Amino acid sequence: MSDSFSKEHRVAIEAVARAARVCQRVQSQIQPETLEKKDRSPVTIADYASQAIVCHWIRESFPADPVLAEEDAIALRDGESSQFLDRIVEELVAGGLGATPELAVEWIDLGGHDGSASRFWTLDPIDGTKGFLRKEQFAVSLALLIDGVIQVAALACPNLDPQDGSGAPGVILSAVRGQGAWTTPLSNIDATPQPIRVTATSDITGCRVCESVESGHSDHSQSGQIMQELGITAEAVRLDSQAKYAVVARGEADLYLRLPTRKDYREKIWDHAGGVLVVEEAGGKATDVDGKELDFSLGSELANNRGVVVTNGHIHDVVLQAVGKCLADSNS
Ligand code: AMP
Ligand code: MG
Repeated sequence: MSDSFSKEHRVAIEAVARAARVCQRVQSQIQPETLEKKDRSPVTIADYASQAIVCHWIRESFPADPVLAEEDAIALRDGESSQFLDRIVEELVAGGLGATPELAVEWIDLGGHDGSASRFWTLDPIDGTKGFLRKEQFAVSLALLIDGVIQVAALACPNLDPQDGSGAPGVILSAVRGQGAWTTPLSNIDATPQPIRVTATSDITGCRVCESVESGHSDHSQSGQIMQELGITAEAVRLDSQAKYAVVARGEADLYLRLPTRKDYREKIWDHAGGVLVVEEAGGKATDVDGKELDFSLGSELANNRGVVVTNGHIHDVVLQAVGKCLADSNS
């Protein structure tokens, strides 16, 4: 195996692991009342802390590399979230960093790159914020892009079972282009990463499908029609975040459908870059709903694409045909 990008791979795993542990701690403290009141403060605190940790870790390891991350610290400086800064610093300190309010803001703002550099990282510090608040699935997703090509990915899924018999929740899926995709338990990132593989099935009617919990992020009625068209009778499993890419990459699902709910919405690169490389290197395939390759060379958005279709590769063409037919029917 070539050792190119071996340092990037290692650093990416360590960065998302540190962030994921802080997120796990904050999530474990969520009380049912918080949810009832629709109080988003736990996710706000964990989101900023996660971004600060990953950006800090990237700068320590690769000082010249910019980061394009989802959050910025404007709201923390003088806006509605400023009351959270002390809590964020507390979490950073608990995570082993010598943080102050000034440093926390500085680290978060390291994520402010616009995607114009030829080499940069993209980060979603908490993907699946609604899942995080429901104490369900969420992810910390990090990927290295060079000239619009995803080269390295690390995807922490703190609530997925690592399937290693340890019983401790949390797993990190990672990948390096051309070298493979692996799983590492979040509770022991020094363990040797184990290879992962998508399913080999081409039996379309027996396919296991996953999709977003949120119908605002992916059209549930259209996925129902597509599944009917394909003869799939089992219900789609709904889960938040890029954990959907993880279950396809690990062979627990064969198909992930993300169907546009609005004409003008463009997918964000941080919502997909980590997951896409993990699935591709596990042997699977990801395109948009028109079958076009996902174009990560256009800054923060997949401006040339709509929706996403992710499969084990074997069923991709058959699925795209059904997707095309159902989307055309719904437009006519
Ligand atoms: P999921 O957990 O798969 O439902 O996706 C969560 C992500 O959906 C968030 O990180 C948002 O960036 C993204 N999102 C927000 N609005 C939309 C939309 N209208 N269509 C697709 N994705 C969206
Ligand atoms: Mg996201």
